[in-house]
Amino acid sequence: MTDRVIPLLDESRQGLRAPVRPHATAPSGLVLDGLKRPLRDLRISVTDRCNFRCSYCMPKEVFDKDYQYLPHSSLLSFEEVTRVARQFVAHGVQKIRLTGGEPLLRKNVEILIEQLAALRTPEGQKLDLTLTTNGSLLRKKARVLKDAGLDRVTVSLDGLNDAIFRRMNDVDFPVADVLDGIEAAQEAGLGPIKVNMVVKRGTNEQEILPMARHFRGTGVVVRFIEYMDVGATNGWRMDEVMPSAEVMAHINESMPVVPLEATAPGETAQRWGYAGADGQYDPSLGEVGVISSVTQAFCSDCNRARLSTEGKLYLCLFAHQGYDLRELVRGGADDAALAGAIAAIWEGRADRYSQLRASMPPDQAAKSGRRIEMSYIGG
Ligand code: SAM
Ligand code: SF4
Ligand code: SF4
Repeated sequence: MTDRVIPLLDESRQGLRAPVRPHATAPSGLVLDGLKRPLRDLRISVTDRCNFRCSYCMPKEVFDKDYQYLPHSSLLSFEEVTRVARQFVAHGVQKIRLTGGEPLLRKNVEILIEQLAALRTPEGQKLDLTLTTNGSLLRKKARVLKDAGLDRVTVSLDGLNDAIFRRMNDVDFPVADVLDGIEAAQEAGLGPIKVNMVVKRGTNEQEILPMARHFRGTGVVVRFIEYMDVGATNGWRMDEVMPSAEVMAHINESMPVVPLEATAPGETAQRWGYAGADGQYDPSLGEVGVISSVTQAFCSDCNRARLSTEGKLYLCLFAHQGYDLRELVRGGADDAALAGAIAAIWEGRADRYSQLRASMPPDQAAKSGRRIEMSYIGG
């Protein structure tokens, strides 16, 4: 593949035009970006709407009743998503995560799951198909999601203290209903379940130990996420970030842990296993993880691409523009052209925002330009 990608800024659509390669070679199951990173993981946002207003993601003051969400006609249909995803899989994607907004708000999302579950890698393998949710609709949907072919879920929960959690989701949603959703997911076999907790210093750090203790030994893996400077609306400040090292030191004081190996290249979480009385990892106690997107950049093996609800391809969580694949899909491009465009875009990728942020003066990151919102592109 020799063509150079020259991204054209299409001002009217606020997106980048996807390059078309008339003589693209067929996908080989491996495409490397400019920093030699393969494309393995695709995150698909299925809606930009959410029934929560987490202050770090969709603050109420911005996402109010006048906020303009995408009209239904601009969302990729399930068939369009599946068609695009098939090309990504041909290029080596092995894992697909559905996200949002709140993905369970997308009507009949199980139909999309069924279509994605039927995809096979070039080696004939099933994909690892997962979904990140706030858990509010899990009790209702867990069984149907599993039956449609979903493998696992990740549930976001920022604490066990009801008052703190209600304040953080800002719609007065109770902890008990999320816990019930997690239980429903366990009953349906959507495990191993991961629970993500964003740690915001001054807001919910007192919830770290209760969360770790609650899920220890249950088979549910809690992961503490550093509060990130995604988007431009959450008023991020470095002094509200609690470094993962501090989180783990805190846990280790009362529940000793030992480091575990990463399970897959490009894995975002660092894993720790709870130690038994002999000081060794005790699998019956399970594990805990941290995602240190701020203090320890993991860009060097970042193999993730993100497809927005309206079909824009983003190469980094911190990108501010995406490549318009919907235009290709709706403009009559055949599969070869679509696959060629995806390859060309990935080959031109050099994004490594978190690494660069590490060398910025404190808080400059917060001011470094327009960025897409997490609720639009997903986690
Ligand atoms: N609504 C679903 C949920 O909350 O799980 C899926 C979308 S949400 C954008 C995906 C993940 O991003 C959640 O685990 C959420 O906690 C995390 N997230 C959102 N904003 C964040 C921020 N500023 N820093 C760190 N994580 C964030
Ligand atoms: Fe909604 Fe998830 Fe964002 Fe919270 S983190 S506002 S649940 S999209
Ligand atoms: Fe990947 Fe961008 Fe995050 Fe780095 S900052 S790990 S390139 S998404």
